[in-house]
Amino acid sequence: MDTKKSVIVIGAGLGGLGTACLLAKKGYTVTLIEKNSTVGGRARVFEKDGFVFDMGPSWYMMPDVFDHFFSLMGEKTSDYYNLQKLAPSYRIILKSDMKHYDFYGDIVKNTETFETLEPGSGKVLVKFLEKLKLQYSIAYNEFMFKNYNSILDFMSWSVAKVGYKLPLLRKQKAIIESKFKSEILQKVMQYQMILLGTAPGDCPGIYSMMNYVDFGLGVWYPDGGIWQLPRALEAMAKKHGVNIMTNTEVEQILIENNTANGVRLADGTVLSADIVVSNADVTFTDEHLLAPEYRQHSPEYWDSRVLAPSAFILYLGVEGKIPTLEHHNLIFAKDWQKGFEQIFDKPEWPTDPSFYLCMPSKTDPSVAPANHENIFVLVPIASGLEYTPEFEKEYTEKILDEIQQYAGVENIRGRIKYQQVYSVKDFQKDYNAYKGTALGLAHTFSQTALFRPNNVHKKVPNLFYAGAGTNPGIGMPICLISAELVYKRITGSKDVHPLKEL
Ligand SMILES: Cc1cc2nc3c(=O)[nH]c(=O)nc-3n(C[C@H](O)[C@H](O)[C@H](O)COP(=O)(O)OP(=O)(O)OC[C@H]3O[C@@H](n4cnc5c(N)ncnc54)[C@H](O)[C@@H]3O)c2cc1C
Repeated sequence: MDTKKSVIVIGAGLGGLGTACLLAKKGYTVTLIEKNSTVGGRARVFEKDGFVFDMGPSWYMMPDVFDHFFSLMGEKTSDYYNLQKLAPSYRIILKSDMKHYDFYGDIVKNTETFETLEPGSGKVLVKFLEKLKLQYSIAYNEFMFKNYNSILDFMSWSVAKVGYKLPLLRKQKAIIESKFKSEILQKVMQYQMILLGTAPGDCPGIYSMMNYVDFGLGVWYPDGGIWQLPRALEAMAKKHGVNIMTNTEVEQILIENNTANGVRLADGTVLSADIVVSNADVTFTDEHLLAPEYRQHSPEYWDSRVLAPSAFILYLGVEGKIPTLEHHNLIFAKDWQKGFEQIFDKPEWPTDPSFYLCMPSKTDPSVAPANHENIFVLVPIASGLEYTPEFEKEYTEKILDEIQQYAGVENIRGRIKYQQVYSVKDFQKDYNAYKGTALGLAHTFSQTALFRPNNVHKKVPNLFYAGAGTNPGIGMPICLISAELVYKRITGSKDVHPLKEL
């Protein structure tokens, strides 16, 4: 390991920022290149007329992972932002009967709610969560922070000793349906898979540990907004000397004799480095940043991958308070299964969508002017969907009607002070996202762990990948783990556990 080496990181998403931080702290000379005007990637922010909109993520889950990352940097999250645990974590509204239910990061409270919805289910929940807690701890300590090279990595004695306790082969949906019989509880226990961009019927059972993450660890919020996280990472990166270049697009990764030696920018400038890390989406990196002889897959291969959904997003600034909504609100469609079919099987615009409404101004007055609400609406849709500007307007009207009808927001049109749509084409343009996917590759069995794109190029040993497209996968905390995995690769660490120090 030679920490005098220079590293270029392409993309300042959380994976890129995280990698830059860890390597710079270790002493590498790091340049971080980002095409957009600010860092954060999908976790960017924009401000308009006093409304502060987090553009993408809004659920701060697995606080332990963030704490761990900051501790590697010799810091604490509380040095940068104040976290509060949301109570309730979220509200679920059923379109079918307009009833709503609140869920907490509190097992006792949730048990009571479960009992009212399905007698006997409270005990089942408690037992299930105990098992999931153990599975989470095994996954955290033995699997998530480990780099995989071959199937043999799954066959070591240390993995075998605990691996049998994990539901590696059953599907998440099947596990939930074997425990909870009522439709509402099945939905409550399955929606977390959508955060991973995957239909519960296609998601390996191991991801049930997300139920523990949800109910056991809770949902948190950094005062000021989620963008406090990229802001903190940017500050730490700068503190350790990372040269951050925004408004700068990489056009090609330069490789000679199977060795990456730098990048060429869109303006033709060549920057040299000993090591290159791409945090741009894996498909884009393969198809556009690599010369044909170094591409790892064909266009047909990428076309055959299961993509996580894209999204139809509305950023709304609304006058007056909205007492019917909590900070996080999930509105579930009558025909939930059809929703998955329209996203994954027969892509089309959802006719009766399940959707998500985030209203951070419920918790945090700093994200909206006084007596206004800041609302982020997200309808999961299939990646690659086509639309015209007229259709975009039509669909916006449909969603506004739905918000009025199901979320109890009266006279919404008359109260909107700011409105902005963000969808498939914006993901493509802003992040070079393949088919405009919001999240990347879904977490199906054949796109998980060993089967997910590896974080090191097969033929170019000094070219690495960080972010949602590689291991472990989608989500803010998970992308920080991806940074640690790249750090281990570059520094030659074979440690399979969360690092204790750099
Ligand atoms: C709408 C939405 C909601 C989400 N909700 C949640 C949530 O609630 N909780 C959660 O934990 N996660 C959530 N996620 C997922 C999470 O935000 C992502 O998994 C994570 O932020 C992705 O980080 P990344 O490291 O893969 O980088 P990205 O954010 O994908 O960033 C990659 C960066 O590379 C840059 N780039 C691309 N090409 C080039 C180039 N040629 N030159 C220079 N730069 C380039 C891009 O501009 C971008 O900034 C959500 C995501 C979205 C989109």
